[in-house]
Amino acid sequence: MRAAVFKQAGQPMSIETVPDPAPQARQLIVKVGYCGICGTDLHSTREGPAMLPCNSILGHEFAGEVVAVGSELRGHWHGGERVCALPFLGCGRCAACLTGRPFECANVQLTGIQVPGGFAEYVATGDRETVLIPESLDLQHAALVEPLAVGLHAARIAGLQAGARVLITGAGPIGLAVLLWARALGARNVVMSEFSPERRALAMRLGADAIIDPAQALGPQFAELTGGEPDLVFECVGAPGLLAQCLDAAPRRSRVVIVGVCETPDTFAPFPALLKELEIRFAVAYTRDDFETTIAMMASGRIDAGALVTHVVSLGELPAAFEALRNPTHQCKVLARIGA
Ligand SMILES: [Zn+2]
Ligand SMILES: [Zn+2]
Repeated sequence: MRAAVFKQAGQPMSIETVPDPAPQARQLIVKVGYCGICGTDLHSTREGPAMLPCNSILGHEFAGEVVAVGSELRGHWHGGERVCALPFLGCGRCAACLTGRPFECANVQLTGIQVPGGFAEYVATGDRETVLIPESLDLQHAALVEPLAVGLHAARIAGLQAGARVLITGAGPIGLAVLLWARALGARNVVMSEFSPERRALAMRLGADAIIDPAQALGPQFAELTGGEPDLVFECVGAPGLLAQCLDAAPRRSRVVIVGVCETPDTFAPFPALLKELEIRFAVAYTRDDFETTIAMMASGRIDAGALVTHVVSLGELPAAFEALRNPTHQCKVLARIGA
């Protein structure tokens, strides 16, 4: 099969012919229709401790069609099903796997990191991690299920309910996913902080009430626009200083949920947060139910995320499009159209 193969930092992925994956007993082979590029893909192909080894195949935001079924799954899966999958291969037997939390499996392998991912014509998925897509959801939109499930998981950890006043830092794909869920779950106000004019415009299009200036204190701007204080603050940037900015904006007894991936040490002053009795939560990945709920909400039109996709490229164009995302860009979600 053809695949985009990572060789080394500073070098675009190379389009190569590699062996087709064969399904293990409880695996499926999915013909990839679309696969999205994620910020973590860019990160794991930069020089540093998280860099992937030579010949890795990335891509964990994929949707496609089942074309081969492992020996123990015959009768249950038939081939031809349209699916997306949590990008994990869990053991399938532990409590985490059996309750739809394969990310927590002690023996989990991450698709697109430890095992080959969706920047290829075919990808192997696990039985318990693979989720059917209804007819009313096309494959291009289904490739957005993974980032949207991150947003739903964060909203659930936050306890987001109807009437909530919500502040979100960062209008990248994850911040915008949290915005869409906040709207769908009945938030009273959703205000986002963002520098990029293109991302600001996209956030407004997707239902933000207002965009505020990240260079100024966020709390007073939020109060001026909404007449109140945020109940929930979501950090969706993942850079040093953002946690402190969120804690500063959070009012007494409110909750700050960290979704952005910050891999460098960061500092904040505990005393002001202590005086406000703030709650800090972290949210990572998703459960199988987060995927199923996202799919149901997209299929019924209650989550409309199509505007997140700003660019669709072919597999051949993927390496150049991938490198272009390393520099500041007006793109939001870039998808590779592979077998669709
Ligand atoms: Zn992702
Ligand atoms: Zn397991």
